[in-house]
Amino acid sequence: MIPNEIPGFNFDLGETVDLLRDTVRSFSDDEIAPRANLIEQNNDFPKDLWTKLGDIGVLGITVEEEYGGAGMGYLEHVVALEEISRASAAVGLSYSAHSNLCVNQLRLNGNEEQKKKFLPDLISGEKVGALAMSETGAGSDVVGMKTIATKNGDRFILNGSKMWITNGIIDDEGTPADIVWLYARTGTDERGRAEITTFLIESGMEGYSAGQKIEDKLGMRASTTAELVFENCVVPSENIVGMPGESKIHLMRNLEHERVALAAMSVGISRRCLADMNSYASEREAFGKQIRNFGQIQRHIGESWADYRAMRAYVYDTARQIDLSKAGQRLDSDGVKLFATTVAKNIADKAIQVMGGYGYVGEYVVERLWRDAKLLEIGGGTIESHQKNITKDLSTNSSAIEQ
Ligand SMILES: Cc1cc2nc3c(=O)[nH]c(=O)nc-3n(C[C@H](O)[C@H](O)[C@H](O)COP(=O)(O)OP(=O)(O)OC[C@H]3O[C@@H](n4cnc5c(N)ncnc54)[C@H](O)[C@@H]3O)c2cc1C
Repeated sequence: MIPNEIPGFNFDLGETVDLLRDTVRSFSDDEIAPRANLIEQNNDFPKDLWTKLGDIGVLGITVEEEYGGAGMGYLEHVVALEEISRASAAVGLSYSAHSNLCVNQLRLNGNEEQKKKFLPDLISGEKVGALAMSETGAGSDVVGMKTIATKNGDRFILNGSKMWITNGIIDDEGTPADIVWLYARTGTDERGRAEITTFLIESGMEGYSAGQKIEDKLGMRASTTAELVFENCVVPSENIVGMPGESKIHLMRNLEHERVALAAMSVGISRRCLADMNSYASEREAFGKQIRNFGQIQRHIGESWADYRAMRAYVYDTARQIDLSKAGQRLDSDGVKLFATTVAKNIADKAIQVMGGYGYVGEYVVERLWRDAKLLEIGGGTIESHQKNITKDLSTNSSAIEQ
C-alpha cells in the first residue's frame, strides 16, 4: 500500500491533467505497484502491461487522434510518467522509452506514411518501441557514433551496434524491440563530425538482432537494457526519417524532451519516498516518542518536502512551456533534469535514513527507488553534461538570468 499523500497547494494544472492523473494513478496502484518489487527482483520486463497501458490511452499521449493518440500536450505526458514512476520507476523508464523516445519522435519527425504504418500498433501496445543512440564508445559524445549506414541504390546497409538500449530486448527469449528509432552515421562533415540519419528498424529485418542483455544493473531492473546489433541490415528508403544526414537537430531536440521526462520520473520517485518516510515517522517510536519528534528527523522530512515542491514546480513549468516543435530549449530541459534527478536521489536517501534498518531492505521500497534514482543522473545525459550545457548557454545568453 502506498501511504496517503499530503495535499499542499494545488498546482492547478487543469481538468484534463487532473482526470488523466486520476486514471493513471489508479491504474498504477492496481496494476503496477503490487508487482513492482517482484518484477524488480526477477529482472522481469512486464510486457503484458503494454496493451493495458494502450487501453487507458497513455502510449500516444502527444499523438493526434487520427493516428490513435490522445491529442494531449507534454504536460499530460509528464504527469502520466510521474504517476507510473511513483509505482515503479523501471516501468516508467520503459514507458518513457516507448511513448516519448519512440512514439513522440515519430509523431514529430515522421512522414505521413510512416506515422500511419507504425503509430497505431505502438499506441495500442501491440508493439514495443525503443530508441538507439548510445554505443559502447559514444555516450555523452553521442555524435562520435560509429554505427554506419551506406547507401546502396534506394536502400541503406547498416553495420554496427548500439549499447544500453531500454526495451532493446522485450522477453526472456531475447526478442529485440519491435520498432527502433535508430541513429546512424551516413557521412562526415567538413569538421570530421558524423552526419547522422534516422532509420526506423522493424523486428524481422534481416541483419537486425539483439546482442547481450545488460544484467546486474544497480536499479531499473524491471526495464530491460540491451545491446542491438546490425550486420548488413538492409533498410528500405521508406524507413528513413527526414533527409539523410540531417538528423542532428532532431536528435538534440529529442534529448531536450527526454530530459524533461526523466525529471518527471524524479517527481514520482520523490513523492513515494516522501509519503513513505512521513508515515513511518509517525508509526515508529524510539525513546518513548514518535521519531517525527526528533529534530534530525524533522530536518530530513522538512527539507525533502521543500525540495520536492520546488522540483515539481520546475518540472510542470518546463513541461508547460516547452515547444515540442523547436530545438534550443536546453537551458531548462537540462536545468530541470540536473535539479530534479539529484534531489530525487537525495530524498530517497533521506527516506532510507528515516526508516533506519527497514529502509535498507526491499520490502520497504525506498531502497529500490534510491537505486532507480541514480540512473536518472546518468541516462539521457549525465549531470556533468547538463552543467556543461547550461554554463555554455549562459555564456551566450546571460539575459536568461534576468528574464
Ligand atoms: C539503464 C540505462 C538505460 C539507458 N537507455 C538508453 C536508451 O534507451 N537509448 C540510448 O541511446 N542510450 C541509453 N542509455 C545510455 C545513456 O544515455 C548513457 O549511458 C549516457 O549518455 C552516458 O554515456 P556513457 O555511459 O557512455 O558515459 P560517458 O559519456 O563515457 O561518461 C563517463 C563520465 O565522463 C563524464 N563526461 C563525459 N564527457 C564529459 C565532458 N565533456 N565534460 C565533463 N564530463 C564529461 C560523464 O559525465 C561521466 O561522468 C542508457 C543507459 C543506462 C545505464
